[in-house]
Amino acid sequence: MIFQKILVAVDGAPISAHAADIAAELVQLAGAEMAFVHVIDAELVNAADTGIQPDVFVASAKEDARKLIDDFRKRLPQQVAALDFVPIGAPHTEIVNAARDWPADLIVIGSHGRGGIKRALLGSVAESVMRNAPCPVLVVRAKT
Ligand code: AMP
Repeated sequence: MIFQKILVAVDGAPISAHAADIAAELVQLAGAEMAFVHVIDAELVNAADTGIQPDVFVASAKEDARKLIDDFRKRLPQQVAALDFVPIGAPHTEIVNAARDWPADLIVIGSHGRGGIKRALLGSVAESVMRNAPCPVLVVRAKT
């Protein structure tokens, strides 16, 4: 199997759980390594209208990310371990950077995230990751 390091991009939307389940199956089939990436959106950190200090916002976002990833970890079969990356920045850029740095040989991503189905085929994060990824990208659609 050519995929030995599989990176799954997760946000809080249900489709991420579906993407993570598919990634975990591939990981088991391939005997691959797995990692989660959840990006803390820098635009939200710096949003002036929240009235929250950036460092306070980041601390709380990191805590939320930890809980999110822990929940995804609980869904994994016992024998599957996963690394995690929680960078701060633009989600599409940081997912691609994580794939490059780790380095991943497959990215698994949802077709749409918390942004919902505003765009017909793909959400903007998924589209940008597909355009810029250093490796193949598996785009998972919502269960119908
Ligand atoms: P979107 O393009 O925002 O509709 O999201 C499409 C997919 O990109 C989601 O299903 C996730 O797999 C991934 N994604 C979106 N935002 C993030 C984020 N902040 N961190 C990690 N993955 C994300």
